[in-house]
Amino acid sequence: MNLYLLGLPGAGKGTQASRIQEALDIPHISTGDMFRAAMKNETPLGKKAKSFMDAGDLVPDEVTNGIVAERLDQDDTTDGFLLDGFPRTIPQAEVLEQILSDQNRQLDAAIYIKVDKSILMERLTGRFICSNCGETYHKLYNPPQEDGVCDVCGGTEFHQRDDDKPETVKKRIEVNEEQTNALVDFYQEKGILRIIDGQQAPDDVFADIQQILD
Ligand SMILES: [Zn+2]
Repeated sequence: MNLYLLGLPGAGKGTQASRIQEALDIPHISTGDMFRAAMKNETPLGKKAKSFMDAGDLVPDEVTNGIVAERLDQDDTTDGFLLDGFPRTIPQAEVLEQILSDQNRQLDAAIYIKVDKSILMERLTGRFICSNCGETYHKLYNPPQEDGVCDVCGGTEFHQRDDDKPETVKKRIEVNEEQTNALVDFYQEKGILRIIDGQQAPDDVFADIQQILD
C-alpha cells in the first residue's frame, strides 16, 4: 500500500508510523530521514541540500522534490511505502502525484490523525523539568508522585524548555494548521482521505488505522 500520514504536531504520527511500518513491512519515509540519507551518501541532490542548510537557508522545493523522487525510485518501495512529512504543501502534493504517476502508481490513502488543538496544547506543553536535578516530567503522562515535589531530589522548583512553552507551541501548531487543512482538502477531493480519531489511546488509534489497511 502507498500511504501518506498527516497530522498536526503532537497528534501521535510518529508512534502510529512505526506501527504501520511494522504491520505492513513497508519503508517509513520521513523527510528528515530522506535528507539525512541523501547527505550521508553524498548524492548530487544531497550535496545541494547540504549547501543550502549550511548557509542557513531553506532547501528549495525542486531539491526536496528531487530527493523524494530518488527515494521513491528505490526497490524497497515496490510493495508500498509510508510517507511522513512530505508533501507539506499543495505544490509538493502535486509533484508527488506526478512522481508516482511516472512510476505507474498512486497513493492509496492519506491518513489524517485528527486531534483537537486544545488537546495538542495539553500534550505538547505538559513537559517540565526539575530545576534542581534536571529530571523531566509530563503533567499528563509522567507527573511526580507527589504534586509539586521532584521524585528524585525532593526539589520543588520546576521550569519548562522554551520549546514546550504555551506561546511557542501555539505558534508551531498554527504554522502547521493552515498547510495541514489545505492538504486535508486536497486529498478529500481526491477521494482518498481517511480521518482517524487521534484522541483515543494509541492502541485504539492503531486499531482504527488497521481497519483502513485491511
Ligand atoms: Zn529533582
